[in-house]
Amino acid sequence: MEYRILGNTGFKVSRLCFGALTVGPLQANLSPEEGGRVIHYALEHGVNFIDTAQLYGTYDHIREGIKGYEDKVIIVSKSYAVDFDEMKQAVEEAREKLQRDVIDVFMLHEQESGLTLKGHRRALDYLVWAKSQGQIRAIGISTHATKAVHAAALLPEIDVIHPLINLSGIGILDGTREEMEEATEFAYSLGKGLYAMKALGGGTLIPRAKEAFNYILEKPNFAAVAVGMRRLSEVDLNLQLFSSKIPQEDEWQKVAREPRKIHIDFWCVGCGACEKRCGQGAIKVIDGKAVVDHNKCICCGYCASVCSEFAIKVV
Ligand code: SF4
Ligand code: SF4
Repeated sequence: MEYRILGNTGFKVSRLCFGALTVGPLQANLSPEEGGRVIHYALEHGVNFIDTAQLYGTYDHIREGIKGYEDKVIIVSKSYAVDFDEMKQAVEEAREKLQRDVIDVFMLHEQESGLTLKGHRRALDYLVWAKSQGQIRAIGISTHATKAVHAAALLPEIDVIHPLINLSGIGILDGTREEMEEATEFAYSLGKGLYAMKALGGGTLIPRAKEAFNYILEKPNFAAVAVGMRRLSEVDLNLQLFSSKIPQEDEWQKVAREPRKIHIDFWCVGCGACEKRCGQGAIKVIDGKAVVDHNKCICCGYCASVCSEFAIKVV
């Protein structure tokens, strides 16, 4: 496993970051013991970086998974909290459930622009205070938008940025892949630590996984890439992809052939863009939410590319 320094934080993180969303109730819904086993297996193989969020409901899985590695892992969490007290509660929840006095990085979840960051000023003030008290070690934001990367780059309080970026530019809210590249290079030049999300475009780039990971891994400004994993076989495959080994064709085929389906997240706003995009007539908005007909769906992922809410994933 290769390690990189995460900007000015000085944290030495594995380039493969365990994205914990997938083991939790919003996706694979593994028990804390089952999910913890997958996390633990990744740690045994050199991963030392875990990404989660208050929303994901995976603190119990992580607490199980890091047993024996408590002093070696770097954990990021995040919250949608807007005000001071809400963020205080979010940080305290993470410290309590993870049974860690100090959370390595705590973030404002899914910031869209400088304006959104201003709206979260009191939550950010809490994080600054918590850092001064040694409860967190670094402050960050996660975002799908180039504007938020630019705005956060200019904020001295922000140490880490976790932006959405991938080979096809799927999911970037306000620009192209090239514009996100430019924004992240700017942030890196100012010393921000960067690690990428959605390198596989929410699953749509799985058939081009090698190419999609190489696209990020070759960029010097990204210390790591968060990848969601649900099974030991997925950990094995990602370990090979991240160590530049070419996976055995049969291992590759095993994972590539595992059944997949389109999953609609609960934050779908029922806009209907996916319905218009689907050439198979496999997705329809019913009672304000998109519903997939799995008998018709071919898992092409095209609908994910038009969902501005990033509510569609191949799981
Ligand atoms: S495009 Fe996204 S937000 Fe709009 S209806 Fe489809 S899943 Fe929901
Ligand atoms: S994955 Fe393809 S076939 Fe399935 S709902 Fe989306 S666009 Fe339609």
